[in-house]
Amino acid sequence: MGKRPDPLPADPRVFKRYKVVRCPRCNRIQAVMAVKTFRCMFCGHRRPMREVRILYATDDPREAAEAAKAIKEAHFSRKPG
Ligand SMILES: [Zn+2]
Repeated sequence: MGKRPDPLPADPRVFKRYKVVRCPRCNRIQAVMAVKTFRCMFCGHRRPMREVRILYATDDPREAAEAAKAIKEAHFSRKPG
């Protein structure tokens, strides 16, 4: 993936209660409740939410946890090529 020339437009899913995102710095998958500022629970990286790609959004905490788990598994089991 190359660089993006422009910041992403605001994602309306940011207003869902839980967002599954990947930290742009440490690449860890996590569910967050932030609307304005993402703060990584692992490395402490901060970034405006509109610059963080939302992988999944839901109002249901269980669904958020399951989505985060599924995305992590997909991410780490991805084979090269
Ligand atoms: Zn991080």
